[in-house]
Amino acid sequence: MPRPDLIPDCSACAALCCVATSFERSEDFAFDKPAGVACRYLTRGHRCAIHTELVTRGCRGCATYDCYGAGQRATRAFAAAPAHLRDQAFLVLRSLHELLWLLTEAAKLCPPSCGELHAALTAQVQTLDAIARGDAAALLNVELCRHDQRTRALLRRVGEALGGRAHCQGLGSWTA
Ligand code: SF4
Ligand code: SF4
Repeated sequence: MPRPDLIPDCSACAALCCVATSFERSEDFAFDKPAGVACRYLTRGHRCAIHTELVTRGCRGCATYDCYGAGQRATRAFAAAPAHLRDQAFLVLRSLHELLWLLTEAAKLCPPSCGELHAALTAQVQTLDAIARGDAAALLNVELCRHDQRTRALLRRVGEALGGRAHCQGLGSWTA
């Protein structure tokens, strides 16, 4: 079972993925949408007007999108912030939450008996959690690239330690 805070709760979110993100017309999206502009199908109540028809209306990308719980966190933590800052924070949190999700899944595969590797995974989770829970300035200035590389290196080590099992757990693209 993933950590509850890493699972999207759209009922507690101001539909940040439908505003902050950008997408281009493609197989997954029927139209272009720039970042920071509300989608044409977003209602005033923060709901998607075509929610039940996303795939047939050409928005498969929306149907498969996962914010890893960043939406409700940014909505809650940046409720009083200007919209552009909240959007920016959401995009950073989305990246951090995805890394946290991968690390927590990897840690399940590497219990404490794995020794140093488990400790390193746990330490990286604590580092990313502290950033996600920290103040806005630190969050907005975080060096995502460095944390991404550090996380990928750890996941590769998990992949090496487990062999093919990592692929069976959905971590394959990160550990390859
Ligand atoms: S940002 Fe996440 S929680 Fe918010 S509406 Fe999108 S998927 Fe749901
Ligand atoms: S189509 Fe619906 S889910 Fe997709 S961005 Fe627009 S409002 Fe959001």
